[in-house]
This record gives sequence, structure tokens and C-alpha cells, in this order.
Amino acid sequence: MGREATFCLDLGALASVDDALETLAGFLPQGGGEGELRELTEPTAERWYPVLDCSRCTFCGHCLQFCLFGVYERDEQGRVIPVKPDNCKPGCPACSRVCPQGAIIFPLSDEPAIAGAPGTLMQPDAAARRMYYVRTGLNCPVCGEVSEAGDLSSRDAPVCEECGRPLGPGIAADSPVHAEIDALIDSLDRMAGGEGE
Ligand code: SF4
Ligand code: SF4
Repeated sequence: MGREATFCLDLGALASVDDALETLAGFLPQGGGEGELRELTEPTAERWYPVLDCSRCTFCGHCLQFCLFGVYERDEQGRVIPVKPDNCKPGCPACSRVCPQGAIIFPLSDEPAIAGAPGTLMQPDAAARRMYYVRTGLNCPVCGEVSEAGDLSSRDAPVCEECGRPLGPGIAADSPVHAEIDALIDSLDRMAGGEGE
């Protein structure tokens, strides 16, 4: 049985279709081995999936721990790989907001930073970091606390730089941060329950 492989090409660096075919041919085994280039006959459509920038990823595993749909796994070298990109829920960019390195891109996103537009970098904010710690229930390595969705804070209150948990008193029930986290987690729960598929 033939071995399948996927390659990535920087289309912006190619001058023509012939240029692309020549580059692809370079991936085939030399000396008449197995392999061929073929035209896809199955219908194709736009697909929503994450792309990891390996120059930024530190393999911390936050995306893997956060995702409910088994998109990510570690390989034998401990690297985090989106092994099942088609499990990703169309329209969900949550892990790109959670990634501490801004290493996850969704090419079809309307948000330039999430789509990886040149000159942009997705910066996780306090709401996104709290979303990760609330979802996973993990202890924050910086403040040592576990974040709960009910931890309320006003936007101006000091928060832990790592987990976004409000520090000290000054709790306000109308926190936009809290509402944003609740909405994001609710939408993930609905997706996990099969709604919107
Ligand atoms: S959260 Fe970001 S840095 Fe961490 S493993 Fe995932 S892609 Fe890499
Ligand atoms: S966007 Fe959502 S469903 Fe897709 S990989 Fe990230 S957390 Fe999982």
C-alpha cells in the first residue's frame, strides 16, 4: 500500500503553476521509487483547521489540554501536532486565543491576527488565559490558585499575569471579562454537545 504524505508550499514564493509542479516533483523519491503527483478528483471545499507556527511553538501543550475535540496530540518527540485538523469545529478559534506564544493560526478567520496576517501576532489576553485555566481546572504555576468561572473582577482590577485570575478584593459582578469567558465556554460546551454541527 502506498504511503501518503502532506507537504507545505509557500505559494507566495512560486512564480507559476509550472514552478509549483517542479517544486512538488522535488519531493518525490529519486531514482524511480514509489510516488506520483495526481490531480484531486474529489470535490474540495474550504476547511477550518489550525496551523501551528513551529518557529513560535514551545510545545507547552496548552492547546492540547484545552481542546475538547482531540485535534492535538504529542508525537514521539513530544511535539504538539494537530493530528486531526478536521475535528476542529468551524468558527472556533479558541486555542489560538489561549496559546501563550501566538503560534496558532486559522487561515479562514476574519480576525487578521488569528488568520496570521503579515505584521500581526495573536496576543493572549487575561480573558483568554482565564478561559484556559477555568476549562482545564489546573493550578496556576504563578499565583498557585485554581480559577473558577465565578471569580469575578472589574476590568481594571489587578489580575495574575499568567492565569488572569483577579488578585485581592475589588470584585464586581458586571465584569466584561467574566461575561466573555462565560460566553466562550458556553459556546464550546454547545459544540461538545453536538449543537451547530
Ligand atoms: S499552546 Fe501554542 S505554544 Fe503551546 S503547544 Fe500549543 S501551539 Fe505550541
Ligand atoms: S479551535 Fe477549538 S475545536 Fe479547533 S482545535 Fe482549537 S480548541 Fe479545538
